Amino acid sequence: CGIVGYVGHKDVTPVLVSGLKKLEYRGYDSAGVAVIEGNRIAVVKTVGKLSSLEKKLDEYTPQGYVGIGHTRWATHGRPSDVNSHPHQGCSDDFAVVHNGIIENYLELKEWLIHEKGHVFTSETDTEVIAHLIEEYYRGDLVEAVRKTLDKVNGSYAIGVVSVREPEKLVAARKDSPLIVGLGDGEHFIASDIPAVLNHTRDVYLIEDGEIVVLTKDNVQIINRDNTPVKREIYHVEWDA
Ligand code: GLU
Repeated sequence: CGIVGYVGHKDVTPVLVSGLKKLEYRGYDSAGVAVIEGNRIAVVKTVGKLSSLEKKLDEYTPQGYVGIGHTRWATHGRPSDVNSHPHQGCSDDFAVVHNGIIENYLELKEWLIHEKGHVFTSETDTEVIAHLIEEYYRGDLVEAVRKTLDKVNGSYAIGVVSVREPEKLVAARKDSPLIVGLGDGEHFIASDIPAVLNHTRDVYLIEDGEIVVLTKDNVQIINRDNTPVKREIYHVEWDA
């Protein structure tokens, strides 16, 4: 399983797919991408191999410069198109990819459905993250992600995009790997370094409990209490 994400000046869909190919070794049963396409999010996802996703992308290739991608190793909910990531809330204004397990997703799902009127479409634990971000969003995506992570227990590497803040990519991790690739006018997230090596050899190794906010010109790492983190650049000398 793996996550990738991109914000920059390149046509994003091929960047996401080639990144996911470099993560295939991690194993997966489904794959998908979400791309900020004008004022909406285009999601293409499918059960099966990346070749199945590429076939679907041949029929419709989302165009844009900001996006996230995922290969899923199903833990909650069988492998299916609907259970594939990215996942969205009710409004389709947010999209989330997630590796890991949200231990308390059932109680969160109950609360969202019965107290907040959300409607769920998948059987995954992950979908609660998308709905919580949507529920907590008050004009600040990072704040909504912070509030969401305060509610969830378990392991995660996540990537989040939103049409409300279309030039931003927000990521976070706890007990699941996440790195940031540093380019020139472009930035990447990935579960592992090989996914970004075609583009850059400068990376940040993100640590547990950290949130990363990426735009094409800036990367900011913060702690869960909102304090900025200073990270040394790790220069990759080896080849994948
Ligand atoms: N628990 C999530 C799911 O089953 C994510 C699995 C993964 O890490 O790929 O959809």
